[in-house]
This record gives sequence, structure tokens and C-alpha cells, in this order.
Amino acid sequence: MRGRTAAFVQATGAAQGFSQAFGGTGRLGKTVYVLLTMDCETARCDVVPYGLEMSGSGPADYEESARSIRGYVEFAGARGYPVTLLAHPEVAIENRELLLELKRAGTCLGLHVHPYKLRGRKYRYDLGAYPASSQREILAAAIACWGSAIGTEPQYFRGGYFSANDSTFGVLEELGFVGGSLSNPGRVLPDHCSVWSGAEPYPHKAHTGFRQVRGESDFVNVPVSGAFNRPVTRGHAGEKGFEWSYIPHTYDHKEVIRDVLERFRVDRPNFGTIVTDTHNDQDYSDPNHPSSQNLSLILESITEHCNMLDLTPVGITLDKLCDLVMAEER
Ligand SMILES: [Zn+2]
Repeated sequence: MRGRTAAFVQATGAAQGFSQAFGGTGRLGKTVYVLLTMDCETARCDVVPYGLEMSGSGPADYEESARSIRGYVEFAGARGYPVTLLAHPEVAIENRELLLELKRAGTCLGLHVHPYKLRGRKYRYDLGAYPASSQREILAAAIACWGSAIGTEPQYFRGGYFSANDSTFGVLEELGFVGGSLSNPGRVLPDHCSVWSGAEPYPHKAHTGFRQVRGESDFVNVPVSGAFNRPVTRGHAGEKGFEWSYIPHTYDHKEVIRDVLERFRVDRPNFGTIVTDTHNDQDYSDPNHPSSQNLSLILESITEHCNMLDLTPVGITLDKLCDLVMAEER
């Protein structure tokens, strides 16, 4: 319910969070969840020059956006995997019919926000640069816009550049979101207020006081799956951190998958989840496009390594995964 009061102080959450932070007590079993996401960016023709300086990702127009989104969902669907689309409000409006069609067929829809890309707004920074009151204002405007297009308000979220601060999870919970994929463990990108060093690597209930640890809120966070043995000093967004399954990048995707799955075997998390990400400026309708080839390699590598490690990959959407985590940790 929108506007409900969140529990901002979780006295027992911190202690519990630290003790469980890196698994070891879980029961991985044989299931590995595979969450394919796409950040659907405002078309570049719709973003002010300053916004493009802050983030140049995104399609030239909404036709390119629609081709990329449909191509991604169909490419993944043909290989048995569902998709989660995190859409900027402008995309929800301009690609409305497509998103509703895909939602009816099982695609999960959520909200994606870079404040400086919001149409008609004049924000200058990434989400994590703002105090709670401003984040509330930014997100409320985005929710209203997105909701007017889709017909229901968004319940799932990811910030642009994985930008967030210690207020973000509490604000999201307060605004009625139930989950998201906000963190990129190990990422250090202060220019975009995205710092996740030491962050909990597995799906968990968020902590509303300290973003890097497990908590007891009613908001589930699903971190991106980093290859912790493959550090990078400058990733695709200019970050320090680790290679991960960002599909358009030239990382060694097969080795990334191997590294992540071998970590799961050691940590035995309750919800070992491979998370991929991409943008709606990659033409997945073309099977020869480099990103299509990379996605193909990632999915084949998941199958191959899971077979070797006696694991079973299961495609899942963000809403369903959040439900499972919430039920398990209730
Ligand atoms: Zn983005």
C-alpha cells in the first residue's frame, strides 16, 4: 500500500544481517535462478544535453527501443527464459502497448530512474546523491508517470548506475515497492553515487539503515551476480569492481558464469541467482548483433556449467523471486 509507514530502525536486523551476510548456512540444492533484466532508457531524443552527458545509454528513438525490447524478450523466450524490464517512465508512456502486451505474456515490469532523464524535470544528479525527502519526491513523480501509462503503479525498481544511499531502501518500502535489483556488489563509482563495496551478494530483505547488509524490511533486494575472482579497475561505466553479466560488454562471459557458479557451490546461498543486464539500445532482433551473440554465449555457458556442477538453471522474473525470498525469510 502506498504511503504506509516503514520501520526505519531495525535493532535486530544489523546483528542478524552480519551473521548471515555471506551465506554458508544456506541450502543451494540444485537450483540456480537466472534473472534476465533490461534497463529501458529514455530515448536520447527525449533527454536534455546535460542528461546525456551524465548517461549516454539509450536508444535514439522509441522505435529502436521497441525493437530492442521485443527482440530481447523473444530471444530469451525462445531459449526458455522469462525477462524483467525496468522501464524509465518515458518508455512506459511511449512503448506502452508493447509493454502491456509483454506483461500479459509473463514479462515482469518495474521502474528505472536516472533523475536527470525525467521528462520536464531539472534534477542534476543520480539518485544516491539525494536525501530521503528528495528521493521521495523524485520517485513519486516517476511512479505517477509510469503508473498513468501502465495502469498500475510499479512495485519493482532499479536506480540508474545502481545509484543509491542508505535512505533508498526505506524510501522505496515507504512508497510501496516490494522489491528491486539495486546493488552491484563490489562496485565503486562515486561519481554516480554508486558504491557497493562489501555488499551482501545474494537476494535478501533489505536493511533500511545500512544498504550493504541483510535486514528485516518488507523490501527484497536482488544483487547483480559479480565474478569476485575477476576484478576490473575500469568497467563499462568507469567503475572499479568485478566483471558481471552485463551483456553488451566484452567481458569473458563464459568465465564470468563459471566464476559465479563456483562461488555458489562454496557459499550455498538459499537463492543463488545469476543476474544479467542490458539496455534497450541493443538490437536483439538481429541474431548476429554482438549483444545477441553474448546473450547466447551466457545462456549456453549457464547450461554447460550447471551440467558440470550438477545444478539446474531455472529462469525467473523479479516479482516471483522476491515472493520466494520474502516467503523464505518471513
Ligand atoms: Zn539506466
